[in-house]
Amino acid sequence: MRKKQTTDKRIIEDTLDRLYSAHRTRREAGYWRLLVLYFVTSAIVSISANSAGSVIIAGINLNIYSFAGVLSSVANICVILLAVYYGYRGFLTGLVVLTVQLPIILFSTFARGNLNSLPGVFGNILAIIAIIFIYFNNKKILDYQAKIREVAVTDLMTGIPNGFACDELINALVSRKERFANVIIDINGFKNINDTMGFEAGNKVLMIIASRLKDLAESGTSGTIDFVGRTSGDEFSLLIRNFDSEEDLKKSLELYDKEINKKLSIMGYDFFISASIGYSIYPDDGDTIDRIISNSNVAMHEIKHLNSSNHILRYTADMSSDEKAIKTEGLIRSALENDTIFFMLQPQFDMDHKLRGFEALARMKDTEGNIISPGEFIPVAEKAGLIDKVDSAVFKKATAFIGEHIRKDGSSVVLSLNVSVRHLMKKDFIDEISALLKESGIPASQLEIEITESVMIESIDKAMDRINTIHSMGINIAIDDFGTGYSSLNYLSKFPANLLKIDKSFIDQLGSSERFKQYVAGIISLGHTMGLDVISEGVEENVQLETLREIGCDLIQGFIWGRPLLPEDASELLKSSKS
Ligand code: C2E
Ligand code: CA
Ligand code: CA
Repeated sequence: MRKKQTTDKRIIEDTLDRLYSAHRTRREAGYWRLLVLYFVTSAIVSISANSAGSVIIAGINLNIYSFAGVLSSVANICVILLAVYYGYRGFLTGLVVLTVQLPIILFSTFARGNLNSLPGVFGNILAIIAIIFIYFNNKKILDYQAKIREVAVTDLMTGIPNGFACDELINALVSRKERFANVIIDINGFKNINDTMGFEAGNKVLMIIASRLKDLAESGTSGTIDFVGRTSGDEFSLLIRNFDSEEDLKKSLELYDKEINKKLSIMGYDFFISASIGYSIYPDDGDTIDRIISNSNVAMHEIKHLNSSNHILRYTADMSSDEKAIKTEGLIRSALENDTIFFMLQPQFDMDHKLRGFEALARMKDTEGNIISPGEFIPVAEKAGLIDKVDSAVFKKATAFIGEHIRKDGSSVVLSLNVSVRHLMKKDFIDEISALLKESGIPASQLEIEITESVMIESIDKAMDRINTIHSMGINIAIDDFGTGYSSLNYLSKFPANLLKIDKSFIDQLGSSERFKQYVAGIISLGHTMGLDVISEGVEENVQLETLREIGCDLIQGFIWGRPLLPEDASELLKSSKS
């Protein structure tokens, strides 16, 4: 196992070498060339130094030994170049050849009395001094380079490999066509830890998780070969090899999941966290680096979105957005055909916790009976031109349900319906609403139409006539998701609304930020100035509720007082709120 991990390190080191200097093979060839040149020139020097002969070049008679000085300088330069370019190895080679050569030259100079070799002795000693000097100078640079190399592949906060190191290993595995699983581990709710406990605590969480993952990877207990790194913020990457079956792989992943789920103790608090773990297998789920990374991400987001107790998911083709949209569209069509679109009712309350009414929210099930969130199927229905049919199905069922209550017990609750602008603009929209009022028996004052702020901005001129007509029928108009768009005050003041719904994203920040408190307070007084009631959506915590009460909010819709309910549960609430 350790051997494999050393190999992984080598792969990454090789890349750094490639990035730092010229091609390694070229460097290697250079080393041998210098060495050969050194030996050849040294051999000629020793032959020529002892030669009494002469050669004639361009008519000049030259002693052969006079070449020795030139050639021994060339030999010394070769050694110096070895020390300059080949670090410790070059230095050592140079030192060995020079120190081996020194007694030979000394012998030739003094024992044989050949004073022609005297400059060679000095040259040799000077070369030794030069390469020692170069070595110590180079060492400083190399130590510094080693530090930079370490930093280049290490995540500084956690001390484990970083995204670059992970990418390099993936690159190497793909080019070797070696089977591996690319796993993305994303901590759930990490933002909350940062927001509530501060960055320091967030960093501690990351460091603890990193060291747990690293220890497990290095321990070899998983039975697979694992490499772990931190790729960004709260995201870790795990590369797993050497698994015989998917079962083996899953067992390894479960070990990592368990490590993450173990208790954390930070700043005197004990708490638990979980992570979303998505993975894909090379080459089965993608045969390029981009595909394999993006597919693992898709799987990770899918499992995060599902919010189930199982945190591990492998990529499948139907998770890709195109295929998924096609599948969802098919589900919408068959739900419309079989009339299986249904609704839930989320209660709305005044600040004294008195029931004001309900917002109808569309629901649909997949073939296995799991509920699909409207956040997923409403956009698909919009694109596929099916939204008006989905809206109408909810309108019909929800008005029939509330209408029956009103007829039976004279309830004064308001029913809010979400309308898509496509639906609103259909030519028979007003007829549809009139028919609903008539059939259900709901008084117009107890019906409300929610129009989202962003849609309002895009199509305000065309939609205005329609909205005015609905308003003149006595139906309430709510501006939904207020704060997410950028509607001008000019438009807002012309809009015949009754209710302003502050988007959940603002409420989420309440309690933790004074600035947001002031901001929401500003929205509330703006709403009041325009004669609108103001409701806050997505209220989950007491501190949000109390802040909203303090700054004069009129109504509340949120999990703190009521999640979306099935009609039978809404009936119970209606009954109990009457008494
Ligand atoms: P929306 O109109 O903003 O509806 C409120 C959403 O916030 C609902 O999600 C509701 O369950 C959720 N919510 C309310 N209080 C809380 C809270 O305290 N915490 C959290 N985490 N969530 C809270 P849902 O039911 O998933 O609906 C999503 C969106 O789908 C709706 O957002 C609306 O834009 C759209 N939608 C739902 N039903 C219909 C429909 O019949 N027709 C149309 N056109 N759109 C619909
Ligand atoms: Ca709404
Ligand atoms: Ca909303």
